[in-house]
Amino acid sequence: MKIAFFEIKDWEKEYLQEKIKGHTIEFTKERLNINNVDKINDYDVVSVFIYSRVSKQVLDKLINLKLIATRSTGFDHIDVTECNRRKITVSNVPYYGENTIAEHTFALILSLSRNVHKSYLRTLRNDFSIKGLKGFDLKGKTIGVIGAGHIGLHVIRVAKAFGMNVLAYDVRQDSFISEVLGFEYVSLEDLLKNSDILTLHVPYNKYTHHLINKENIKLIKKGAILINTARGGVVDTEALIEALDEKILSGVGLDVLEGEELLLEESRLVYDPENLNNLANLVKDQILLSKDNVVFTPHIAFYSQEALERILDTTTENILAFSSGVAQNVVILK
Ligand code: NAD
Repeated sequence: MKIAFFEIKDWEKEYLQEKIKGHTIEFTKERLNINNVDKINDYDVVSVFIYSRVSKQVLDKLINLKLIATRSTGFDHIDVTECNRRKITVSNVPYYGENTIAEHTFALILSLSRNVHKSYLRTLRNDFSIKGLKGFDLKGKTIGVIGAGHIGLHVIRVAKAFGMNVLAYDVRQDSFISEVLGFEYVSLEDLLKNSDILTLHVPYNKYTHHLINKENIKLIKKGAILINTARGGVVDTEALIEALDEKILSGVGLDVLEGEELLLEESRLVYDPENLNNLANLVKDQILLSKDNVVFTPHIAFYSQEALERILDTTTENILAFSSGVAQNVVILK
């Protein structure tokens, strides 16, 4: 087969070359788009990350395409309906980093609970005083996990190791796993009222848009901290700012922001009158990030060497399985 990998770093090229033999392979750092698709128009397989846009126009040019192997869990950058119509298989990487995201969740929790971010900034200024840096123990505190799927369950395992009590809210419940891991399913309302730490692990869709909003954020136990490593749109940013101002929340740890892609595009937005809504989002994000009880990382919860290698391993397996006639991890539109 002729296989083209897009958005590939040098180390990834070396890693993949070791694993996929006997095929013609093209690697490029570029994102696949309408301007460069002609270079590979007779290829059988393309592998992309989330910044390539595999639209109908791009598919029109790929006359031999049989498989798109995306190196991500999400596939909203690919026109899957159009692929189905053309009998092009789309495969993804359904799991690669339960522990990776869970570990980053605890990096954010511990940064807030022990004031790591404030201490770091203070000592950079040669100030070694400890006033205002008193933290709190995780042992004995209650963590509320919103979305107890792959990542949420791993967060629960780690939380138990810290000696925490665990509440979970999920539309699907598994009484066996709750008994084995020792946590309790509750309603969202009860979770908000009773948790010292809240952490979000639901997917982002029309049902979870602003799952935490101006109404229910008031239910949160006074002084709790909230962590979001899921997607920015799960929490209403304005509600978050108000909850911090009103001291409902004592801290917030974020790996994702509503409209986070705009942070890279500020200058274009300012001059585009069509984008006033986006600009408003950007301003809200900046207000949030300027607060000293907000810890932010730029969407790196997934970004560990081991998780990246697992992504490449599954992608390789997807391509080799397809070439042997038994496709795996095929994306199905619900
Ligand atoms: P998962 O599908 O295994 O788990 C999601 C859980 O949420 C499921 O148990 C599901 O029943 C529950 N759920 C879905 N809709 C719900 C709703 N409306 N209310 C309550 N519960 C609901 O997914 P996962 O692998 O644990 O990943 C969770 C999310 O984490 C992903 O969708 C993604 O957005 C995010 N994520 C972020 C990063 C990062 O780098 N920051 C990396 C990977 C994943």
